[in-house]
Amino acid sequence: MSDPRVNLLDLSPDELKDFCVSIGEKPFRAQQFLKWIYQWGVTDFAQMTNIKKELRERLPSLAYIKAPDIIAEHKSADGTIKWALDIGDGQVVETVLIPEDDRSTLCISTQVGCPIKCSFCRTGASGFNRNLKVQEIIGQVFAAASRVGFCENREQKPISNVVMMGMGEPLLNVSNVLKVTEILLSDYAFGLSKRRVTISTSGIAPIIEKLAGKVDVALALSLHAPTDALRDELVPLNKKYKIAEVLTAVKHYLAASNANCGRVTIEYVLLDHVNDSTDDAHALAALLKDVPCKINLIPFNPHDGAPYQRPSNSRIDRFYKVLFNYGFTVITRTTRGDDIAAACGQLAGQVKNKIRAQNV
Ligand code: SAH
Ligand code: SF4
Repeated sequence: MSDPRVNLLDLSPDELKDFCVSIGEKPFRAQQFLKWIYQWGVTDFAQMTNIKKELRERLPSLAYIKAPDIIAEHKSADGTIKWALDIGDGQVVETVLIPEDDRSTLCISTQVGCPIKCSFCRTGASGFNRNLKVQEIIGQVFAAASRVGFCENREQKPISNVVMMGMGEPLLNVSNVLKVTEILLSDYAFGLSKRRVTISTSGIAPIIEKLAGKVDVALALSLHAPTDALRDELVPLNKKYKIAEVLTAVKHYLAASNANCGRVTIEYVLLDHVNDSTDDAHALAALLKDVPCKINLIPFNPHDGAPYQRPSNSRIDRFYKVLFNYGFTVITRTTRGDDIAAACGQLAGQVKNKIRAQNV
């Protein structure tokens, strides 16, 4: 039988307040729980010393605090760490920490597999099972912090940035993703700046429209092609939401956002002789001329069975220079963690009983 108690990691800050009221407590208790859990990493109610004894004793019959267990850890030569987390039924999702000089970025998963099936992505090739629950998404941050440290009262947070660029399409799991975002931003919980939380999407136009003005975090759009004909091949979702419709939605989102400083991040995987010619670069520049953006070029990370190669450095440089000469801010993303299959698009996890998503 499933546990009738509530896992507090499943609740947004507002839902945690409702939970407090439902057990006869004042809503401010929610702030105390958030701090104990997300700033100090405490999961045992008995240790929550500013909560009255009677309540501390009653809580274990009503609730518990549990993140998915880390079942494997892989460390890359470049310092990147990949953790595999057990989410039950033999399924596994992956989360990746990328340390840099001035920050540490955690790349989290939002679905078990991904139903979008971009032709170059290993997650897409691994199939799709289900959306992750709130506790399974925020649980990745919690589990990672259990290894590298919680924020406590530290000036420099051990996890300073969170990007939803792991397994899955965040906007197909939008209600849970929004709750996770609230926990990441809450000053009582992780307290991250909204510029340091990124939702990366393959472009679910109507959901981007819906989110405009409703949530304010950094947005990254996985574009990968300058034309609908090519994007139809690489990102099958493009057959449903064309580039123009997606870019219009993105502009609406930007207009209502402070977190992006007015610019969306455009992600563009470079695939050798597929989307990396100078003609493609000129076409991309023309497409984006009215879209305030910075462009992130991601040299393809190879994986078994993918029918693509990474372009040579000279092709990557040529593509970069065309965009740069138009005046775009362009970054070529350094590959991190590829020796442990933790680089962009290399996460596979364990996806069981694959199903076709109804809503894609
Ligand atoms: N589903 C979301 C977020 C996860 S994918 C999205 O598509 O945006 C995160 C990023 O990794 C995307 O920009 C995606 O295109 C990129 N990616 C996927 N497979 C890749 C590969 N094999 N090499 C390099 N980047 C890849
Ligand atoms: Fe899914 Fe993103 Fe991979 Fe496409 S790139 S299959 S949307 S995870």
